[in-house]
Amino acid sequence: MSARYVPLLPAEAVAALPERARDVVEYRKSGLSLNHIQGCPLGCAYCIRHTYGLWDARLPQALMSDAEAVEQLVSHRYFRPHDTPLQVFNRATDPFLPGVREHLFAVLEDLDSRELTNHVLVITRARMNASDCERLNALRHLKVTLLFTYSGIGDKRIEPHPAQTVVNSMRLATTHAARRYRTIFYWRPLVPGLNDTTAHLARAAVLSGWADATVFTGLFYRDEIADYYRANGLPEPYQETARRKIVPETLERRILARFERRPSGAPPLFRKTSCAVSYVHGLPDYNGHYGIYELCDICPAAQLNMCARAHQVPTAAQLHEAAAGLPDAAHMHVTEVTERAAQVEGLPSEQPRYYLQHRLAFQIHDAAHPHHQRRHGRADLGWESANG
Ligand code: SF4
Repeated sequence: MSARYVPLLPAEAVAALPERARDVVEYRKSGLSLNHIQGCPLGCAYCIRHTYGLWDARLPQALMSDAEAVEQLVSHRYFRPHDTPLQVFNRATDPFLPGVREHLFAVLEDLDSRELTNHVLVITRARMNASDCERLNALRHLKVTLLFTYSGIGDKRIEPHPAQTVVNSMRLATTHAARRYRTIFYWRPLVPGLNDTTAHLARAAVLSGWADATVFTGLFYRDEIADYYRANGLPEPYQETARRKIVPETLERRILARFERRPSGAPPLFRKTSCAVSYVHGLPDYNGHYGIYELCDICPAAQLNMCARAHQVPTAAQLHEAAAGLPDAAHMHVTEVTERAAQVEGLPSEQPRYYLQHRLAFQIHDAAHPHHQRRHGRADLGWESANG
């Protein structure tokens, strides 16, 4: 059977796409993200595609060839061989959709043939098969992590795609013999009132046994997503929108308490994606969350020690040195450096900040958007404790 590929969009159609959609390489918090295939039929109401003006793109299409896309990625100003964490197709499609998977493998095999050892994150909720596992396992250099998105949301208006598909994929991938890639149970988005009953938490605790680690996280409830919920009469999870993900405090406490009751030796639970990805490859967190010590209280002791040894507080001069050569950091000003994080201003977007954060494995915060203690990287909604 011949391999299936998605259609290639003509240049005029690519030019007519929204500006952000045309940017196929974009730095996101967990890595430099490649997105030259866009479009997804799975229809999750909370999809981040809303924010790229791509919600109506249901049919995956290619904006360029895989070879061109890889070239754009590895020649990008933010790309550092062996160092920059990468993500493939995490913004506008699912990498294991029929038709899309061939492009995923073309990208991975191209990067691997260059003997690059970067982390590569592949996030999916689609159906995988045994030959996918074999092909992933044949990659010799990249550090590949599969993250299996599962929410347990039963409302088909919000998540029409059957959750059992991803559960089957995760079990298949994790039980594959002697694998080089790693697996993560990506439990998200958690939404109070929708998928946080005691039964939901118990089911997630069981499923967490089918991956090397678990990450739990909330919902990105941005304006465009809220507009869609309202226009379609969907039950709104929150009264306000926020730029960060939302995980209310009481929900977090219940999750931790439930996971503590799992059998000893169960794979660990993490609050942050990069922590879990780093852990499953036996490495310290590449986002330097160790400085934000309250994130680390659920981390295995050996991992905590590894992150402690790797933790190095940069000087302002080192920050400027790391930013030298980045045109978008020309006006960066370091306002403060503490054990926890460096605070900067004058960056035009989040992208150069993520570059610096990964380059130094240290938290870099934007002075305009301070993080509050104990809810790092989460929206303020649902947290009543005093700020730190
Ligand atoms: S010690 Fe902290 S920073 Fe390191 S992986 Fe664990 S939670 Fe993340």
